[in-house]
Amino acid sequence: MDKKSSSGLGKNRLYAAAAGMSRSFFEYVTFVRQPLKKKFTLFSAGVLFWILVISSISISALVCLGRESGGTLQYFIPQDRAAQLIIMDIQDLRVDGYRLERAPSMQSIMRINGESTSGIKDIGQVLYAMGHGGSVNDFNAEDDLVSRFSIEAARGPGKAFVKNMSGLMYGIKAGLGNISGIKLKTLNSKAGTGRLEKALAVYDASISKAIALAGEYSRKISADYSADPRNIRTYTSFALLVLSVAILMSILLLIVFTTAISNAVINPVKTVTGQIQSLSRGYIDISKRIETVSQDEIGRLAIDFNALMETMDSITKFKKAIEEDDDLADVYSRLGAEFKYYGFDGFTIYEVANSQNKMKPVYPLAHSGAEISCNPEILENCFLCRAKKTGHVVSSIEYTGICKYFLQGAEMDHICVPMMVGGSAGGVVQFLAEKSGMNALHKEAIQGWLNAARRYMEESIPVIETKRLMATLKESALKDALTGLHNRRFLQECAESLVAGALRRGKHIGLIMGDIDFFKQVNDIYGHNTGDSLLKETAEILKKSVRAADLVIRFGGEEFLIVLMDVSEGESAGIAEKIREKMEANKFKVADGTLKKTISLGISEFPLDAESLWHCIKFADVALYEAKNSGRNRCVRFAREMWKDEQF
Ligand code: GH3
Ligand code: MG
Ligand code: MG
Repeated sequence: MDKKSSSGLGKNRLYAAAAGMSRSFFEYVTFVRQPLKKKFTLFSAGVLFWILVISSISISALVCLGRESGGTLQYFIPQDRAAQLIIMDIQDLRVDGYRLERAPSMQSIMRINGESTSGIKDIGQVLYAMGHGGSVNDFNAEDDLVSRFSIEAARGPGKAFVKNMSGLMYGIKAGLGNISGIKLKTLNSKAGTGRLEKALAVYDASISKAIALAGEYSRKISADYSADPRNIRTYTSFALLVLSVAILMSILLLIVFTTAISNAVINPVKTVTGQIQSLSRGYIDISKRIETVSQDEIGRLAIDFNALMETMDSITKFKKAIEEDDDLADVYSRLGAEFKYYGFDGFTIYEVANSQNKMKPVYPLAHSGAEISCNPEILENCFLCRAKKTGHVVSSIEYTGICKYFLQGAEMDHICVPMMVGGSAGGVVQFLAEKSGMNALHKEAIQGWLNAARRYMEESIPVIETKRLMATLKESALKDALTGLHNRRFLQECAESLVAGALRRGKHIGLIMGDIDFFKQVNDIYGHNTGDSLLKETAEILKKSVRAADLVIRFGGEEFLIVLMDVSEGESAGIAEKIREKMEANKFKVADGTLKKTISLGISEFPLDAESLWHCIKFADVALYEAKNSGRNRCVRFAREMWKDEQF
């Protein structure tokens, strides 16, 4: 691999990994893997979360706004008012300074001092309230309380103002004390005027400084106060922005989640409904598999539904195949092939011949070397098989040692399922499972396999029955019901292939036509039933006198045709004679003892006597006629001179 393509491959892998990761993330956040109940609970929790987010943003914004607007009223206005009060009080103190300078007497000095001390105290109280929070009293010149208001503790520049102003107030107080002292000493004298003026100037300067400081603070407070509504607007817009983003996000997420969840629920349900509708119309479309998008109950439903569709499809195909099979053996092997998919440790399909009380293994075939796990007696007497007898499932897993005819009970468990047709078992399927691996889990798996296997059995039962019926019908059409021998129609069907085979092998076919002598008398003397049993016994004698490959055919009432395969020239006459002798020697049972009967036989050989098999049969009949005419109980070989009219 060259460098370029390998890097391309790496990129592709990277993309695939990224796509996989984003898909699993999406699945994770849309709760695809969660069961429905959890999905909706999580969805509700998500909605609740966003409601909480939006509410907290709104509440916080409202609290902030409340505090901001409350701050304007509760903080700035009292602070400004206090600053104004201080300014007014300080201005009074300035006046007090001048009043002291001009005071005419000691009394007036003392009074002014008292007033100014009270003013300073007021300022001190206001400053204390500003610094620590509390109430501020507003007195007039006569020291009457004009108003009282609450004030919050100063923040930032307010603190600095209180500190600085307190410092200045010490100076003012000292300045006032200085002026009063000088004034008291120099009362009624001109001396000290210079010192007084100087002290007054210093005092005035500190008053101006204090007024300037308070004025500055008041201006600052006003500026902040007028800036506050702007802050509120800023807060409001910010809160609105955050709120809008949160609402937008929650709506967006709500849409995404609702769509994802409803798609995960609705789409598969729609497909399932569609499939069920087409199923109800008898139409199975396996290509319409439901895509499993979610891993919840709906996903499970989709998986189960797909599995159901597949099973139905495979059962439909199975049924079609077995219906088209020619042979019952094909049906059994197809059924067996299905059973092989399951985890059983073995199985045998038995066919029950109810009319003969017999059963036989039909899959796997006995001649394939497979041995049955049951006592072979069941094959001769099918009522020994418990499943056949009861028509119920016989399981050693449910009840150990339930069937005594099962021979491998030590190492194997068996589940024998009857295939019921019209109330009786037409077959039995025996499933085997090793005892060693048996546990609760395995038992559950076995139950699943059994359920699946039984679906196939149920589908095949009617087909098997029809095919068995057809086979019986065909056999009865080609067989004689009384003797069990083949009939004339059978010969008609197989004559062509018999002739072809003999010619190919260069062999002869011997034809012996036999007719019981004076058979009518049996009917007349002993009745028709005895006649019938005599016919049956004769058929047995004939069958036993020839090889299995030879055919014994009931040609007419008491007339039999024996077709000897691959005989050499002249051999047929010997076999005919053997038959005649056996017949003559046989003692037939009749009501009052035994009866002896003879048979006359005419012999011809194909292709020696004629080119056509049917001509040879006719010649055998001609020879039989000759045997009858010449005294019965004899064998006559056809000879040309017996054929006089040359017509068939
Ligand atoms: P022959 O020696 O000339 O053959 O004398 P036969 O009495 O055997 O000959 P015939 O053909 O006159 O009689 C044949 C009788 O066989 C007539 C018929 O009632 C009887 N038969 C034909 N089919 C059956 C059958 O299925 N059951 C019974 N019981 N009798 C049959
Ligand atoms: Mg006859
Ligand atoms: Mg006869």
